[in-house]
Amino acid sequence: MKTFHNYIAGAWVEPSTGKYQDNVNPADTTDHIGKFPLSGAADVQRAVESAARGFELWKRTPAPARGDVLRRVGEIMIARKEELADLMTREMGKPLAETRGDVQEGIDTAFYAATEGRRLFGHTVPSELRNKWAMSMRRPIGVAGIITPFNFPLAIPTWKIFPALVCGNAVVFKPAEDVPHTGHVFVEILLEAGLPPEVIQLVHGDGEVGKAIVEHPGVALVSFTGSTETGSKVGETCGRLHKRLSLEMGGKNAQIVLDDAKLDLALDGVLWGAFGTTGQRCTATSRLILQDGIHDKFLAMLVDRAKKLKLGDGRKAGTDVGPVIHAESISKIERYVEIGLEEKAELVLGGRRATGAGLDKGFFFEPTIFAAVRSGSRLEQEEIFGPVLSVIRVKDADEAFRINNGVKYGLSSSLYTQDVNLAFRAINELDNGITYINAPTIGAEAHLPFGGVKATGNGHREGGWEVYEFYSETKVGYVDY
Ligand code: NAP
Repeated sequence: MKTFHNYIAGAWVEPSTGKYQDNVNPADTTDHIGKFPLSGAADVQRAVESAARGFELWKRTPAPARGDVLRRVGEIMIARKEELADLMTREMGKPLAETRGDVQEGIDTAFYAATEGRRLFGHTVPSELRNKWAMSMRRPIGVAGIITPFNFPLAIPTWKIFPALVCGNAVVFKPAEDVPHTGHVFVEILLEAGLPPEVIQLVHGDGEVGKAIVEHPGVALVSFTGSTETGSKVGETCGRLHKRLSLEMGGKNAQIVLDDAKLDLALDGVLWGAFGTTGQRCTATSRLILQDGIHDKFLAMLVDRAKKLKLGDGRKAGTDVGPVIHAESISKIERYVEIGLEEKAELVLGGRRATGAGLDKGFFFEPTIFAAVRSGSRLEQEEIFGPVLSVIRVKDADEAFRINNGVKYGLSSSLYTQDVNLAFRAINELDNGITYINAPTIGAEAHLPFGGVKATGNGHREGGWEVYEFYSETKVGYVDY
């Protein structure tokens, strides 16, 4: 089995701990991908020192030239798209159609970020005083700590690392421990495209590495995507150490289907939203809010289609739903099925680990649907991060909107209706960072801001023009003449 290393101070190096962990395919745990470092605080120390040297060089590189490197990264990703999609599916399980989308998001982000290198605008403004010139400009900040989750192994790192780089920062990157191979290949591509060696550092490991990055005084800003539980700890540390922080965390997203909706369209939407990526998306549809008039008919249509979804290895043609990421996810989902039953919700599909037909070798869970879920119950309120959908019955749009807004999270929401007034009202009134009309709760475009409100985030956004504010500092200059 191949052994992989960290990338620190311009070289591929072993971890100071001498420890490694196995990375396996979640669809077939007998398929070993490689051994990856379980690094420690000493590795983070070396990485931050090296990144500080990289920063001195990179911040002096003109922003358009920094953008040119990212354009080359995008070109390499285009040339290697199939290979990248395949290795991601092998590493985290979602089907190839989805991992191709993950790579495409990275490509789009690369080209968008590249053009920002020519657009890091400041302002020139009239001064209040005579013979004075007043202006603002954008400056790089320093070493950026980038901590990412397993579910979008390429797209999410590119959302953070590309704008960090184009703004002139150096990066210490820790991918989730379940997807180190994608992180490894991504850093190889950055180097192949001509990124100077000490501008990027890759430190593999578990939560200990993430913690050491967040606590290191040489890391000026942290961008974290992951669970609200971990993100809250990161937030406390960054608050104490006065660090700039972007948090993107959990979701409990709802699709609302009203009586006037096109039901076939809404059905495609919820199947894809709830069971795509095996429900392991921050934007996954985990609640389905159905208006009384179509409730019974739509639920029957949904169960009928969902039971036909084909589980399996995402690299095989015809697979609709892949595995979940690891054994602990299965246990967590099983716990929530028990909670649902205790709360007297009605289990209408699934509810168990999927077995047979080669599925025993991986972490597969049956698409699961609970009906008659009570608003306010744990099943309805808490993020499960698996293929579990809770169906809630409502009498009208007002009640649906209230239930949508009645959770602590606020990432995405979706409304299926033909009433254009209601559509605009929803965009205005639903407490989420993103609202989709007649489309599922998922999907993002590289040039638009992405993120959520309430416990999903801390006010920053990924992607789009807003993210460049996060990765650069505003400086004001006055010139008397
Ligand atoms: P996670 O367990 O919170 O891990 C996220 C990252 O944080 C991983 O790299 C993890 O490392 C690291 N980490 C763990 N403990 C840490 C600590 N004490 N300090 C600093 N870093 C630490 O999340 P996950 O299971 O990978 O991803 C699922 C979660 O991400 C879900 O809640 C989902 O909603 C959320 N998510 C949100 C968005 C969004 O944009 N809002 C997008 C995607 C996912 P290890 O893996 O090595 O432990």
